[in-house]
Amino acid sequence: MAWFKKARKPIAASTEKPQSRVPEGLWVKCPGCSQLIYNKDLASNLNVCPKCAHHFRVGAAERLKALFDDGRWTEHYANLTSTDPLQFTDTRPYRDRLRDSIKATGMNDACIVATGTLDGLPVVIAAMEYSFIGGSMGVVVGEKITRAVEMALARRQPLIVISCSGGARMMEGALSLMQMAKVSAALARLDRARVPFISVLTDPTTGGVTASFAMLGDLNIAEPKALIGFAGPRVIEQTIRQKLPEGFQRSEFLLERGFLDLVVDRREMKPTLARVLRFMGAAEAPAAPEPAAVGTRYSDAEP
Ligand SMILES: [Zn+2]
Repeated sequence: MAWFKKARKPIAASTEKPQSRVPEGLWVKCPGCSQLIYNKDLASNLNVCPKCAHHFRVGAAERLKALFDDGRWTEHYANLTSTDPLQFTDTRPYRDRLRDSIKATGMNDACIVATGTLDGLPVVIAAMEYSFIGGSMGVVVGEKITRAVEMALARRQPLIVISCSGGARMMEGALSLMQMAKVSAALARLDRARVPFISVLTDPTTGGVTASFAMLGDLNIAEPKALIGFAGPRVIEQTIRQKLPEGFQRSEFLLERGFLDLVVDRREMKPTLARVLRFMGAAEAPAAPEPAAVGTRYSDAEP
């Protein structure tokens, strides 16, 4: 027998805004300005609304395509996959969720580690994929980002991490929380070796990702109006029972308060990154560039 009974119905969850994703079809209605945009115009504009500059959410591969020269890169550690260490089940077994996400995205986990050149500069980029279990950081994401840091350290090439994540992966419990310390420790070594690390925060960057590597960049750059925080605004509002100020936890608000260094439009991201990397002393690749192909996958054995 229960001691307490809920006499009243719980407060109804707020009707969530439709997800900012690019739907199928020829025309897309922009959630920012309600205008209709031709799909191809949107794609050629890096999925930024040409009328109001609303940034649609994009996948990890698309981000890499927009940053690497000629959209070409070499992927590393692609076959790392979670072993479901806790044999976790909530409303569904974690194993099933993993299997479905792998099938839907064609990726083995929520992160791509890639090398190539950005405006002629050799770089290591790790990009997170939101459509893979909310871009959550489990053991695999933590390991891949750590290896990306170590690769940047070994090659003495700048590291860029593009965060897009709901935080730590609940289904891997404490093991996913340990990734925060692991990645941060690796970044400390990168820092001591004076290799630049730029963190790019996109909508959304929350939880354990914000609380570890996303805020540890030598430069922390965000896209406009991205949700960036630890707990989400709704959770905070429900906890403190106060209305939060306008624009709370959005890029511009955080820039004003010194949490971020820059807010950069996606269409300006590549030239901005190239400029700051050159400022930090990054050098162009020697004459023979890396033999990269679109999405070439290398084995996990290399450094
Ligand atoms: Zn718009």
